[in-house]
Amino acid sequence: MAQIEITITAKSPLSLAAIKAYGGALIETGLYVAGGQLRGALGALKRFASQVEQDELDQLLGAPSQPGIKFPNCYLTNEQPAFPLPMTAQTCKRDAGFLEKGKTHGVADLLLRQLAYDCVARNGAIPIPFQYKCPECHQRTEAFSRIVEYHGKGKYAAVEASLHRQTRVAVNRSRLTTEDEMLYSVQAIDEGSRFIGLMEVDDERANSTGKWLKQITRIGGRTSRGFGAVEVIAKESFANDVLRDRVASFNAMYREFEADLRAIADDPPPADTRTLFTVNLRSDAVLRNTAGLPTLQLDLLDALGELATNEERQVLTSITPQPVAQFTGPLMVSGWQTAWRLPKEVLLATRMGGLYVFAADLGDDEHKQRTLFSLLEKLQAAGVGEMRQDGFGQIIICDPFHLEVEPV
Ligand SMILES: [Zn+2]
Repeated sequence: MAQIEITITAKSPLSLAAIKAYGGALIETGLYVAGGQLRGALGALKRFASQVEQDELDQLLGAPSQPGIKFPNCYLTNEQPAFPLPMTAQTCKRDAGFLEKGKTHGVADLLLRQLAYDCVARNGAIPIPFQYKCPECHQRTEAFSRIVEYHGKGKYAAVEASLHRQTRVAVNRSRLTTEDEMLYSVQAIDEGSRFIGLMEVDDERANSTGKWLKQITRIGGRTSRGFGAVEVIAKESFANDVLRDRVASFNAMYREFEADLRAIADDPPPADTRTLFTVNLRSDAVLRNTAGLPTLQLDLLDALGELATNEERQVLTSITPQPVAQFTGPLMVSGWQTAWRLPKEVLLATRMGGLYVFAADLGDDEHKQRTLFSLLEKLQAAGVGEMRQDGFGQIIICDPFHLEVEPV
């Protein structure tokens, strides 16, 4: 597999249309380039392509016989890739946002504290309920759900969208003249805004993916009315951290919280020796259960099983990771399939930022550990659920933000 970093820069206002209100008179923009919009933009190149080039594009867009590549969501940012924060991120209610000069209240992640509390406090070993307060002012905190630029440990930036609104005269499509008294208002993302997404693609298609992505010059809606001019840069990128190390740091910090709590509990349970890990949703995910019904649950065994070799499947059966907790929220998704010019059905999805925690009994069995980490690597590249070609179901194992237990 190769990883490609896609950078999209707006060369005109962008209308990444998401919501139309008042019969289409008010058009709001989405705040990121969805994988489906990127795929649609690539599909639109077919109109000007030769037969050979069209075949090449079909290899990327997918056909019934061969699945296409997975187009990622590209999120608004300045320099570095940006991602949705985990749902367990909290900020001070009185003074929300990241620490900066003159601002001392910050954003912290609660997951490790919460997991340790749930483990030690069950059976009433700790008589007070779990509560987290801003360490600076001791006021209550609230969820901080943002797409955030990741600069590395302790360094994050919430990127604010720069938006404006344009009012236009509606044009009658059949007469091509202005409609009397029909104005509409389009919200747009300003020229100069930048979006970055990370794409996992097989080595065979990596070259042509990069080549074709760079040819995209229009993205989003109203491209015939002066919106949506973009410049796209695609370059190979290399992950600079290792999944296994992230899981190790996650567990090491969890053990510290657990040990602290066990020290104050009257009747502490035995130490938790299992390996914990999270599956974090970096885009909305469309999940179904084995009966085909929409669900917010993630069937991890099923998802890993699909990617496993026979030998790995046997080891997996002896590990059987158990769900420990999940933090998820529902939303309905629908849209327009630009690539195929068909409307999509309305589906239940699990909101980006959602996360699932699992525990696996690996002991110090190196073979089990290697197998699980290798399967989680595969899962991270493959994603979860349906519509992965359109950017749904992107994941990371153990989002590094969970280690930010003190305000950043
Ligand atoms: Zn505070």
